[in-house]
Amino acid sequence: MKANYGYKDGSGEFFITIDTEKCTGCGDCVSACPAGVFEVVADPFDPLAENDVAVVREEHRNKLKYSCAPCKPLGSRPPLPCVAACKPGAIEHSW
Ligand code: SF4
Ligand code: SF4
Repeated sequence: MKANYGYKDGSGEFFITIDTEKCTGCGDCVSACPAGVFEVVADPFDPLAENDVAVVREEHRNKLKYSCAPCKPLGSRPPLPCVAACKPGAIEHSW
């Protein structure tokens, strides 16, 4: 399933989506993210899942715009470290 973490406010929608069917639980996004946005845990949506999955840490879910700001300079959107690190392509950003 596609797990959405984030929020919307007057300035936009700030969601990170992790496709739990693509995520292998490898942890590469955890080490790639300078802000510590991710952690790998037992799949919260499927107790019978064989592998762990990445989730957005609770403390970042209501401030992603700010957590991710250093990776998204105004006016440009370079390859994001988390997206680049995820070989299965499980991570998407809404902004
Ligand atoms: S954009 Fe940067 S700060 Fe945000 S989750 Fe990805 S690597 Fe972490
Ligand atoms: S890098 Fe991708 S596959 Fe690996 S744990 Fe993170 S989201 Fe899952």
